[in-house]
Amino acid sequence: MSFNNLIGNDKIKNVLNESIKNENILHSYLFYGVEGIGKKLFAMNFAKMILCNNKNNKPCEECKSCIEFETKNNPDFFHIEPEGNSIKIDQIRQMQKNILEKPINSSKKVYIIDNADSMTKEAQNCLLKTLEEPQKFIVIILIASNENNILATVKSRCTKMYFQKLTDADIKKFLNEKFSTTNLDENMLKLCNGSISKSIKVIEKTSILNQIKSIVDLLDSNNELDIINQNEVFYNNKDDVYLLLDYMYVLLFEKINTNKLNKNYYINAMELVQNTKNKLFNSNNYDMTIDNMLIKLGK
Ligand SMILES: [Zn+2]
Repeated sequence: MSFNNLIGNDKIKNVLNESIKNENILHSYLFYGVEGIGKKLFAMNFAKMILCNNKNNKPCEECKSCIEFETKNNPDFFHIEPEGNSIKIDQIRQMQKNILEKPINSSKKVYIIDNADSMTKEAQNCLLKTLEEPQKFIVIILIASNENNILATVKSRCTKMYFQKLTDADIKKFLNEKFSTTNLDENMLKLCNGSISKSIKVIEKTSILNQIKSIVDLLDSNNELDIINQNEVFYNNKDDVYLLLDYMYVLLFEKINTNKLNKNYYINAMELVQNTKNKLFNSNNYDMTIDNMLIKLGK
C-alpha cells in the first residue's frame, strides 16, 4: 500500500488505505491541521491512488493514469488554489462546470482545493451545492490549516481528517533521511513544532540560529552595549525574522529553568519578544522595532 514515503499520521494512512482497498471512497474530505505537516502530500498520494487503474497495487506508477498524474497531465485530476489571496466564486463555478463532464481515464475525478480556508464566503456557499448533491464519480478534498475559516455548513458535509503535528522522533527521522542530519539540539526541535516545512527551514538557517543563541547567552552577562550591538543578525535576515524571534522565545523559556535567579527577567523578555513579533507585523520601521527590543533586553 502507499503513503509509505510519508512520515507520521499513521491512523490516517490506515483509514485511507482501507478505503482504497474496500473501494469505499467518499465524496468529500477535509484534511486539516497546522501548516507544514504533509496534508497536501497525503492528498496528492490519495488522489493518485483513487485514479490508478491497477486493481491490486495502487498507485502502480505504471498505468496511464499514474504516469499522467506524475507529469501533471492527468485529465481526471484538478488542483485548485488561491488566485491572489483567496479562492474566489468564479473558480468554484468553473470547477462546477467541469464536474458535469465524465472522467476520461479513470472511474473517478478528483478535485483538491488547496488552502480551502482562503475560500471567500461566496465561494464556499457556491461549493455547498456541489457537496450537497455530488456527482457519483467525483471526490473533493479540501485542505486547510485554519478550519475555523470554513463554514460549518461546508464542514458538516465533509469527512474530517485531523492531521496531528509530527513527534520529535518523526522530525528526527525525516531530517535523517532527507539531510542525513540527526544532531538537531532539543531547542531547535522545539522550534520545529512538529512541522516538516519548519524543520527544513531550521536546517537551512542553523548558523543564523546559532547567532541568536549567542545573543540569548549574552543576556546573562548584563552588558547592555554588547546586546544592542547584535542588531546586524536581525538586519541581515529580515525574511526570517519570525523564525529568529520564535527561536529566541524557545531559548528564553529554557533559561527560566536553568537560571532561576533571573526568572522574572526572562518572563518579561519572552513577553517583549512576543510583542516585537506583533509590532513587526504592523510596523514599517523594522530597524527601530528591533533596536527597541534589544535596548530593552539589555536593561
Ligand atoms: Zn496506476
